[in-house]
Amino acid sequence: MEYEVVIGLETHIQLNTQTKIFCSCKADSWNETPNTNICPVCTGMPGVLPVLNKAVVEKGVLLAAAMHSEIPPVSYFDRKNYFYPDLPKGFQISQFDCSLAKGGYLDVLMPAVGQATAYVRRVGIHKLHLEEDAGKTKNAPATFVGQARRLIDFNRCGVPLVEMVTEPDLRSAAEAAEYLTRLRQLLRWIGVSEADMEKAHLRCDANVSIRPVGAEYLNTKTEIKNVNSIEAVRTAIEKEVERQKKEYDAGRKILSWTLEWDEDAQTLKKMRSKETEADYRYFREPDLLPVYMSEAWKTEILADFPELPLERKARFLSVFGLPEYDADILTTERALSDYFENAVRAYDGDPKRVSNWLLNDVLRLLNENGLTLTGLKLTPVYLAEIIRLVDAGTINTNTGKTLLEKVNSSGHSPRQIVENEGLAKVSDDSAIRAAAQAILTENAAETESYKSGKATLMGWFVGQVMRRMGGKADAQKARAILEELLN
Ligand code: ADP
Ligand code: MG
Ligand code: ZN
Repeated sequence: MEYEVVIGLETHIQLNTQTKIFCSCKADSWNETPNTNICPVCTGMPGVLPVLNKAVVEKGVLLAAAMHSEIPPVSYFDRKNYFYPDLPKGFQISQFDCSLAKGGYLDVLMPAVGQATAYVRRVGIHKLHLEEDAGKTKNAPATFVGQARRLIDFNRCGVPLVEMVTEPDLRSAAEAAEYLTRLRQLLRWIGVSEADMEKAHLRCDANVSIRPVGAEYLNTKTEIKNVNSIEAVRTAIEKEVERQKKEYDAGRKILSWTLEWDEDAQTLKKMRSKETEADYRYFREPDLLPVYMSEAWKTEILADFPELPLERKARFLSVFGLPEYDADILTTERALSDYFENAVRAYDGDPKRVSNWLLNDVLRLLNENGLTLTGLKLTPVYLAEIIRLVDAGTINTNTGKTLLEKVNSSGHSPRQIVENEGLAKVSDDSAIRAAAQAILTENAAETESYKSGKATLMGWFVGQVMRRMGGKADAQKARAILEELLN
């Protein structure tokens, strides 16, 4: 039997606001001492009232717009009631039937692999709503007391989340991984979340089923929890698909289990059989007002809405004529694509040349020095200036590369540094000839073996001349002169 894989993802996205969703506690307290970032509101003390953080709504609207969702003029908060120690109020404030956004989709570009050509998978958005996070529980260390106990950390209570659930539109583990990669890129691009899976800013549960190829119906799914990286999502889904195939092939049924991914063992463990859907007794949150999203407010929020990664990539391909590979890397991050565009504008020449310098040399400079593009002293204008100095033959390529570092540490303009340090390329024949002659004289043995046929030594001679002249010689000229002297 040939099977088709069906996947839907449920994601929780932590919005990067300063404060929590209903109180003024700091929103992000990753790795902070437990229960130091809490107040009566987020710990659900009797008599307190929540106040909605405006920035949460605004970031939610930005995300909804990026997902092409419809944003209704009014939405409500609801109470989702359940009893668990990390939920001090006994309910979670969430949105149920009238949420911030409806529908929408994310287009995921699947790259060409081997024989398969590239294609776009459109992933529908089933649900997109705002809610507060709950706290965290963990087992107490053995030193605490003899008995098994649980510890509770409320720091995360009230952290603003968007819950976003896809339609079961994904067709492979690779598509699910690519969806998450693109979602993470998009979240950072529009500035609503740090989207770091390791820090739980982006969490994901994967729902997986398989069905015979060509079938329209949905088979029973299982739900995979505790996948904390994109790689884990991919591997866990692949393993689950294999398991389901074996079950069906053996004539057995798939039961709607909840599975937990064990990262250390790289295996899935059954957490529980799906109990009947909990009755959350949703009802409107009486302590919060409806959220009225006027056209004016929406316009204000979306005033600076950026061109999205896929659109920008398409423009880099069509307007700048870049190869797919370059356009893809240049649009992984908004800061990088902005930097590139500014450098192209300043350079006013072949964009591919700017792309080469940026992707090879500037990114290496960043990596080696642990820098980011923001606040870099090597501005896009300076990068363009360096490339033009090389184009004009004022400096050679190697000097250009060392200039990147010099400009960045000093903040001076490339032109100024070339002037101050006398880095301009030496094309003066007599200076190069003198250096070449000296090298040949000092290295009589090498000169002999070159003459007796070891032609590969030429590169070494050129290198020696360059070194003697502080890297400033015109390398082609040096080679020509060496050849002339040796032959
Ligand atoms: P539940 O009520 O079990 O939580 P939902 O309808 O809320 O199920 O869907 C949860 C997620 O599971 C969604 O992302 C949805 O796309 C996905 N999903 C639903 N049915 C299937 C299926 N048969 N196979 C794979 N994924 C599915
Ligand atoms: Mg559900
Ligand atoms: Zn608080």
